[in-house]
Amino acid sequence: MALKTFAEMGAIQRSNPEAGITFMPGIEYLEAPSAVYKALTEAKAKEMGMVGFRLLKPEELPDSKVKLGFTYDSWCVNPMMYCSFLMRRFGFRGGKVLKVEVRDPSEVFEIKELGNVDVVVNCSGVGFNDDKVFITRGQTCLVANTCDATVTRQNADGSWAFCVPRNFEGGTIIGGTKEPNDWNPAPSEQVRRSLLDKFAASYPSILGSEGKFVVLKDIVGRRPTRKGGMRLEKEQVVGGKCVIHAYGLGGRGYELSWGVAEGVATLLAEHLAPGHGRIASSKL
Ligand SMILES: Cc1cc2nc3c(=O)[nH]c(=O)nc-3n(C[C@H](O)[C@H](O)[C@H](O)COP(=O)(O)OP(=O)(O)OC[C@H]3O[C@@H](n4cnc5c(N)ncnc54)[C@H](O)[C@@H]3O)c2cc1C
Repeated sequence: MALKTFAEMGAIQRSNPEAGITFMPGIEYLEAPSAVYKALTEAKAKEMGMVGFRLLKPEELPDSKVKLGFTYDSWCVNPMMYCSFLMRRFGFRGGKVLKVEVRDPSEVFEIKELGNVDVVVNCSGVGFNDDKVFITRGQTCLVANTCDATVTRQNADGSWAFCVPRNFEGGTIIGGTKEPNDWNPAPSEQVRRSLLDKFAASYPSILGSEGKFVVLKDIVGRRPTRKGGMRLEKEQVVGGKCVIHAYGLGGRGYELSWGVAEGVATLLAEHLAPGHGRIASSKL
């Protein structure tokens, strides 16, 4: 899914620079790499379809705690620009938006303004009464500093230090915490300090010629996470209709988005195919 999204983001970036996508190096530093990471070679990464993958030399690692590092071609998105681009495209191609809070995906079949609905895609992030779903709180800090790469450091204690440049004068996200089931909406100043210090220690050039961060704001968000991974599944509903579930993407909603969309399109095609889905289920 990540590879599909990588290819699609490349195509959009080339055709629509206003969509807010920037291609830049991804850099990863690992203090305690798992066996899977350790087994990663340049040949294997190429075989997997990764572009520009290269293992970092020991002298390129930020400190002796980092045991493995690599770089590869990646992309970053300015979500404000990208979401407004998608919304404009959706409207231009005939999509209509109706804002309604529903208690269950099946409720959508009954909304009069929508006419005769055949298929509902449940891309609600957290799903509906799915006991495998939980939120993962994340505190990050938006800074005005620019950065020439998207850098992620996984520490041995399980914590992370990362940056995601938004580009287009959108600043750079410095993160971040991962706190399952924590609903606290308030950012902590102490956490902000620690995130900024830890990231600057790993990638000092972010501080620029002034040698400091320019903080724009603290951000607290909730990643829609699901035990066992996301749900991508078609559910037949009485009357030959169906709900396609596509939620629970955790902290990778953008990274996997076009792969998920492809999965949804495949399930939709199955539903519409003669002898499958719609026709078979109309006997229900
Ligand atoms: C701190 C943090 C860092 C992140 N970093 C990254 C990253 O580096 N890379 C990445 O790819 N992703 C990242 N994400 C994750 C990304 O934001 C999510 O994965 C993504 O937003 C999920 O997209 P989604 O469309 O599935 O769900 P959402 O964005 O949650 O959208 C769900 C939609 O469904 C609607 N909805 C929900 N319930 C109902 C209801 N009952 N009735 C009507 N409408 C409803 C909501 O209003 C919303 O519009 C991060 C998130 C956080 C919080």
